[in-house]
Amino acid sequence: MNLFMPRIEISLSQIRENTQILSDLYFGKGISLMGVTKAVLGEPSIAKAMIQGGVKYIADSRVENILKMKNAGISIPFVLLRTPLSQVESVVRNVDISLNTEIETLKELSSHAKTQNKIHQVVIMVELGDLREGVMPCNLSQFIRQALSLSNIKIIGIGCNLACYGGIKPDDKNMQELSEWVDSLEKEFQMDLKIISGGNSANHEWFNSCQNVGRINNIRLGESILLGRETVGRKEIPGLHAGAFQLVAEVIESKKKPSLPTGNIGQDAFGNVPDFKDRGIRQRVIIALGNQDAMPSGLNFNKKFEFLGSSSDHIILDSVYDSVKAGDEVRASLNYGGLLSTMTSPFVRKHFTDCNGSLVIK
Ligand SMILES: *Cc1c(COP(=O)(O)O)cnc(C)c1O
Repeated sequence: MNLFMPRIEISLSQIRENTQILSDLYFGKGISLMGVTKAVLGEPSIAKAMIQGGVKYIADSRVENILKMKNAGISIPFVLLRTPLSQVESVVRNVDISLNTEIETLKELSSHAKTQNKIHQVVIMVELGDLREGVMPCNLSQFIRQALSLSNIKIIGIGCNLACYGGIKPDDKNMQELSEWVDSLEKEFQMDLKIISGGNSANHEWFNSCQNVGRINNIRLGESILLGRETVGRKEIPGLHAGAFQLVAEVIESKKKPSLPTGNIGQDAFGNVPDFKDRGIRQRVIIALGNQDAMPSGLNFNKKFEFLGSSSDHIILDSVYDSVKAGDEVRASLNYGGLLSTMTSPFVRKHFTDCNGSLVIK
């Protein structure tokens, strides 16, 4: 079979195994998992692998991705991680639970839920220091009071998100603060909060070291499941597969060339003025992949190649071997940015390498 290039090779069994190990680990302390599919554009077969591995919910930041999974026949509670105000009608129609931080959005959700004769479930996000989304703790009680007055909306939980914008680590202090808020809100409003969602792949270190998870009973995991890493120090989690995704691109030129350009230096394709070191004549390889397909800093090539630079549709590598020729394959492993960008590129074909032993191409 002539394999398409560039392509991303995806091992569903490795994703399923990663999910299984994480879900056993977290479930041991009473924590359920939401499998987060945004980095893979809600790819239904990956969502299915997560479900086989034991996640109780599928969470994504985009309604379009959730619709794709529903249309593929996946039925599990869907959670919307980011509320798009202009899409509330569709959110109520297609999503079971959404994360929220604005009363105006809740009012819109309430009004559409009334029209659609539905109860829309919400988790209220609390700001605990990372400064992305969340209601400020000092306003939380008033916020909940207002939210409770809205019809057709049910507050089923609270949550927080750390280590995404401010890089703030989940620790005993902020996790305990979330637990204390649960106790205090349940008491003040005589309510029962079912989901206490403590964070994302950055919670791994806290989870491993803490004696007591408090009221936290849910975590939302994307990167740990997909790439087998925690995200505070980007350390591999023992026992997990870190290479479930492999990028393969084809060499379209391989020649010995000087390492210093000739002529007067102006700007490159992206407005930067490049700077070069003279390393003599080198074997230079061009692969058919560029910034339009992949965030270059997100690709890790094997040791035979060193990344020199890239433009919209070419990546230039220094090769230790002169035997590399046009038509050869170059492989790269991916970090989160690499995964996000290559999965988003329409030019990178997705190959599932191990569904029933056959190769399925999308
Ligand atoms: C993306 C996202 C996650 C998942 O983050 P990972 O680091 O991939 O585990 C969890 N929660 C929210 C709100 C998100 O936006």
